[in-house]
Amino acid sequence: MSYILVNEIFCSIQGEGYMQGRPAIFIRLQGCKNKCPWCDTKYATTISEVNQLQDDSMIVFQKEKSSPIYSRLKTSFIVEKIKEKAKPGFLVVITGGEPCQQNILALTKDIIASGFDCQIETSGTEQIIVAEKTWITLSPKEKGFRLENLSLANEIKLPVRYLSDIERYEKILEKADGKIICLQPIDCDTEATKLCVQVCKEKNWRLSIQMHKYIGIS
Ligand code: SF4
Repeated sequence: MSYILVNEIFCSIQGEGYMQGRPAIFIRLQGCKNKCPWCDTKYATTISEVNQLQDDSMIVFQKEKSSPIYSRLKTSFIVEKIKEKAKPGFLVVITGGEPCQQNILALTKDIIASGFDCQIETSGTEQIIVAEKTWITLSPKEKGFRLENLSLANEIKLPVRYLSDIERYEKILEKADGKIICLQPIDCDTEATKLCVQVCKEKNWRLSIQMHKYIGIS
């Protein structure tokens, strides 16, 4: 039986990247060893028994605000609950935390076999093992990024505050020829947004503006 540590499951609009604007069920997994300074899901990074609820807790489906509590859910239980909330064709996004720190192969297979579209959002610091047809959104990290993950990605999404945030990844981006590349201004910052617009126009890349933050949804 396959279990996954889950911080929360909720329905919203995908506000970022290529899938921006699509209604989606988000499965936020618990646990991430990376320490990104801009992380806006720090509450989902630490695994500590103090915060672990009983298995298959419904609390993860009912959170009204973010918190570090999480539960161990059976894959079949997650998919069963998603089927109650959404029709086939709906987008299901596995995010984190860092989803690939857990074994998500069975979960991605079950989601796709149930007729949903499946997307993962990953830092590329772990081996990516997912079902075929999973849409892989990669936000590479400077430390610990596994270059072999690049060929698996459908899109590269870079959080940007300064030009140096793009320059740092130049070598990776050079190898990402043919991939969709999205620049995402950090914290909807005005100057970062201007910079991203300018670079997107120069390079024919996409702008990802975290739409959910502009319209005040999670
Ligand atoms: S990889 Fe994602 S979840 Fe982990 S610290 Fe960085 S931004 Fe946060």
